[in-house]
Amino acid sequence: MSFARLSCGSASADSGTEKRVHRLLSFQRYLHSSRLLRGIPQQIPLHILDEDYSGQAKCMLEKVGNWNFDIFLFDKLTNGNSLITLTLHLLNQYGLVDLFQLDMVKLWRFLVLVQEDYHNDNPYHNSVHAADVTQAMYCYLQEPMLSKSLTSCDILLGLLAAATHDLDHPGVNQPFLIKTDHYLATLYRNTSVLENHHWKSAVGLLRETGLFSHLPAEDSMNMERELGSLILATDISRQNDYLSRFRTHLDQDSLCLNTASHRHFVLQMALKCADICNPCRPWELSKQWSEKVTEEFFQQGDIEKKHKLTVSPLCDRETNTVGNIQIDFMTYVAEPLFGEWARFSDTRLSQTMLGHMGLNKASWAGLQQEQTTAKEAELSAAGADAGGSHSKEIPQGSREY
Ligand SMILES: [Zn+2]
Repeated sequence: MSFARLSCGSASADSGTEKRVHRLLSFQRYLHSSRLLRGIPQQIPLHILDEDYSGQAKCMLEKVGNWNFDIFLFDKLTNGNSLITLTLHLLNQYGLVDLFQLDMVKLWRFLVLVQEDYHNDNPYHNSVHAADVTQAMYCYLQEPMLSKSLTSCDILLGLLAAATHDLDHPGVNQPFLIKTDHYLATLYRNTSVLENHHWKSAVGLLRETGLFSHLPAEDSMNMERELGSLILATDISRQNDYLSRFRTHLDQDSLCLNTASHRHFVLQMALKCADICNPCRPWELSKQWSEKVTEEFFQQGDIEKKHKLTVSPLCDRETNTVGNIQIDFMTYVAEPLFGEWARFSDTRLSQTMLGHMGLNKASWAGLQQEQTTAKEAELSAAGADAGGSHSKEIPQGSREY
């Protein structure tokens, strides 16, 4: 996609496109549990348009590229508007609003709708997670390997994909949707069901707000397609495909970042890293994310038990702990990915992330050990009590009765 064509498109979409858009939106609205069906009132705090948020939030944004950025604090300071505020700030910082001639009112409306379409009753997959992933994505976009080769279009897509990558997430996983015959599983034929839904929801909002309606139709279609390709890459069940492709490129030193398809692949890898970077954050942040994601798993398990469905792996609160889930996740998913990422981008940030992950893993292992020891002590105390109470229950001479 040429950048020149992107920035000098026609003023409006043709009527055929508008008709297609209308049909798509009707469908989205009706079937995709839109904010209207969920009965969420539209309350748009307009003051954020003027960046008139509190001084502290503004102060935090000056250090938005720091790896220890506390998104939970930022969300509080922005009154729950971290995703809107952060994304708008980053788009402005890169000059993308001017460069792509984005209409501020449309952009604002788009970001408000994106944030609203995240379910804030999900313990984990909510708009704060999306804001966290967007912040991490920004950190990666700033890395020399990417910053020296990415185009403005790549950066715009990377940030938008991060902000929308879990849009309208229902708080349960794909196997749950399949076994409960959810319409989304049927619609997307049991393949990347959630990711397809996130993508299509994002496209619905892009079209509804007309954010790219001033671009040539072909360019906005390309943007939508590339956005999809980035979001679909976050499907964790396809982790090995992406990782082995990445590894092969690194082994053969064959990544050529002048090539659009290679840059796109690197963006996919960056988004994958951003999506699962929780174990690489400082302990205080990482621990909170771990607890939140586990609570979401356990809530799914509770629903499965209630409806007498097989409880999904990791979702049973009786047999799993935050620590064991985290240690396995780091060992089998995060460490291999971030190990390769550090080969690709051998920087201080990559070393910092690996360092945090090592420390966090050790902390979880320590906590696991403490819990096991406490449980053993409890059991042996209970055993001793049981033995004691036995002798009390059968007092000397009781057999006489
Ligand atoms: Zn995510």
